[in-house]
Amino acid sequence: MRNQIAAGEVVERPASVLKELVENSLDAGAEHVDVRLDNGGQALIRVQDDGSGIPADEIELAVTRHATSKIRDLDDLENIRSFGFRGEALPSIASVSRFSMTSAFEGRAHNVTVEHGRLISSSPAALHKGTLVEVSGLFENVPARLKFLKSPATELKRAQDWLTRLALARTDVAFSFCAGEREAIRFLPGQDLKDRLAQVWPGLIVDSLRPFDATRHGIRVHGMAAQPNVSQPRANRILLFVNGRSVTDKRLLAAVREAYKGRLTSRDYPQAVVFVELDPREVDVNVHPAKSEVRFRDESAVFSACLSAVQRALETSFGREGGAIAGPDGIEQDSAQTRLSGVPLPRIEPQAAPSRPQGFWGRIDEPLLMNARRDEARDAGDDDWTVVPSSRDDAPVPEAGFTPFPSAAVQEQQPPLAEASAAYGAERGLEEEPSAKKTPMAGMAYLGQIASTYLVMRDAEGALVLIDQHAAHERVLYERLLAGAYAGAGQMLALPMEFPLHPAEAERLQGIRARLIQMGFGMECSEGVLVVRAIPPILSMGEARVFLQDALADRKDDITAMLKSMACKAAIKAGDPLTRDEAEGLVAQWLGTPDHEFCPHGRPAVLRWDAPALEKLFKRRQS
Ligand code: ADP
Ligand code: MG
Repeated sequence: MRNQIAAGEVVERPASVLKELVENSLDAGAEHVDVRLDNGGQALIRVQDDGSGIPADEIELAVTRHATSKIRDLDDLENIRSFGFRGEALPSIASVSRFSMTSAFEGRAHNVTVEHGRLISSSPAALHKGTLVEVSGLFENVPARLKFLKSPATELKRAQDWLTRLALARTDVAFSFCAGEREAIRFLPGQDLKDRLAQVWPGLIVDSLRPFDATRHGIRVHGMAAQPNVSQPRANRILLFVNGRSVTDKRLLAAVREAYKGRLTSRDYPQAVVFVELDPREVDVNVHPAKSEVRFRDESAVFSACLSAVQRALETSFGREGGAIAGPDGIEQDSAQTRLSGVPLPRIEPQAAPSRPQGFWGRIDEPLLMNARRDEARDAGDDDWTVVPSSRDDAPVPEAGFTPFPSAAVQEQQPPLAEASAAYGAERGLEEEPSAKKTPMAGMAYLGQIASTYLVMRDAEGALVLIDQHAAHERVLYERLLAGAYAGAGQMLALPMEFPLHPAEAERLQGIRARLIQMGFGMECSEGVLVVRAIPPILSMGEARVFLQDALADRKDDITAMLKSMACKAAIKAGDPLTRDEAEGLVAQWLGTPDHEFCPHGRPAVLRWDAPALEKLFKRRQS
């Protein structure tokens, strides 16, 4: 019972079993560790090593009772250098599985089997060297825990992730990892850190890694840091190790990000491996049963040691080599292209890359194009390459508040819409569909815009109607995306965007590729790099990049969520002033869209008050 309770702390899933077993192998001085998982580890987790082995009479104790051979006195406990020291892992695992341990010691081998915590057999066995542990039927006696396991593929991935972390920390040891009969990964002896990273990270990222090694306040921080131009959108690819132990630690993570500050946007994470080595007495690894969290006696010393080590790597290696362009505020803004491809590319001349060449209605629209002013404000921050200059840039933005129409002043400043669309169409070699200038609005009359957000209308029955422009446009775009209206109609990029892919992202891409193409992306994938040549006409380049990063990072868990997110990104925002033409165009599109009363997230897109409702509001009548 006690073991089962303890098991809840150390043994959450196959990956944690793997971690405990492989750490034991490393503690035993193994030079080779071979791991196999069947059915994501639920059926079998098998770890074999060539370590020191364990005497026959100690095996039984080690697997049935909290026993450790690693701590002999209190001073040892202060000065922990081994992975394990609590002696609780094996009994915990054995209490929630069918467990077998065979170990060779001084030429004799012995096997012990335990089922759900009960000793079943203990007998001499045949094994040449080291230790072999087999864990079968994990959690079959703890259905509650079984329920929390994810799919075998996911559990397998987590386990492989842990093995990789251990293999990165111990490059002197050889590892293999099999999924059933299939060898998923093998780390050869004699590889260095970069060799091993090359097996798990995209080549583009590995090529940009720079080593660092610095000691400060007696704390040594070493490892490798990737150039900022190959940043990625997830935090979990900063691998942190403290005294050889893979850890998660917010302070260390913050120190690494701080080192990149000014070189990355706030939503990009750098890619780095950081090893912190310090006196074991300066760090408490006993915070968490799985020892994946640590507590430093002097946090700020560790923070500054880490910060300065990584910073130095960035400065000496590539800080002055170009690839980052100092912005007006002193913040280096590496161009998004540089950031994605790792290769500095010539900056695009402004005219070459209109962020929204067709207005945000896309090609199936009438020539009711928006001007691009609002895009610039939004994109300028992180995408200095998506420049949309135009003569209308300096058109004054109407004040927020009620903007009555017709307003000659505002309308004059808009360029002739047909002209704008003709120019874009010519550039892309596309014919614009001819269409009527006025679109039917079902008897609706446009009265004006409130707070640059709500369109004020009078409908055919004379009722007052307010339309939320963002919600309405979102619905229009969403329905079109659903219908695949942009498939093959993407805007070609003058220079393709490149995304180095992690294996998980490549896998994810396989699953969503057809959908992305239907949305208007044009792409190909080779040698772990996704090359995007066309993007949906409704997105700017910056938006498309963020969208793809999110989609590949699995942030959108299903397709409709992806479509909603794209529609939302592309839609007019609240606060965007609209001209009369634009407002009427939107309303016409919106009226022709199914389910138009709500935005895709379920918020209302329209409110309506007829004369009786207004009378009630003004207390002219009671009911
Ligand atoms: P801990 O690692 O905290 O000591 P464990 O429950 O993980 O506790 O292991 C119990 C003991 O079993 C270890 O202290 C070690 O003596 C022995 N042991 C476990 N695995 C191995 C192995 N692969 N090779 C040699 N000895 C092992
Ligand atoms: Mg252990």
